[in-house]
Amino acid sequence: MAEEVKYYRCALCGEIITPDENGNCPICGAGPEYLEPCDKDGNPIAE
Ligand SMILES: [Zn+2]
Repeated sequence: MAEEVKYYRCALCGEIITPDENGNCPICGAGPEYLEPCDKDGNPIAE
């Protein structure tokens, strides 16, 4: 089973990131409530 890398856009710092082990933005530390799913180019993904 392939592991899929999840990308998110951080609403606080605006970076495209993959969450750290706590589910937070690794750049600014924003919690999951600030992270919007997107693809690796930053395009939003409708869930
Ligand atoms: Zn951030």
